[in-house]
Amino acid sequence: MVAKSDCIFCKIVAGAIPSRKVYEDDDMLAFHDINPLAPVHFMMILKDHVDSLATVTDAHAAVLGRMMAKAGRLAREQGATDGFRTIVNTGRIGRQDVYHLHIHIIGGPDPLPRMIAKD
Ligand code: 5GP
Ligand code: ZN
Repeated sequence: MVAKSDCIFCKIVAGAIPSRKVYEDDDMLAFHDINPLAPVHFMMILKDHVDSLATVTDAHAAVLGRMMAKAGRLAREQGATDGFRTIVNTGRIGRQDVYHLHIHIIGGPDPLPRMIAKD
């Protein structure tokens, strides 16, 4: 496991910062967002430290695929039975706050607003 000492999500992976876990295996962790924006709001992360989707490489392609393949089942188990939104905020333009790649799974409100507001 590749960790970065000053990264909040690496500390969550290591158990140094507590989290409400949704799912865990050798390569990935899913846990509830500390500041949920919806009744269902959790994040899926790689256990390896990768800054963002902008810097991910082929080395993590398989685990990223497995994360996407798990998202629907985890979302349903958390109560998002009629759909959800996945968001990967990336870099400055993407308004990423925590620089450890994460996939938000957001179920609700019903209906979610359109992706980007149009003037
Ligand atoms: P970003 O803006 O980078 O896409 O999202 C970062 C998310 O991490 C935010 O939704 C924020 O609420 C969440 N977050 C930040 N610190 C912690 C923490 O210590 N624990 C948990 N569970 N979530 C956190
Ligand atoms: Zn990290």
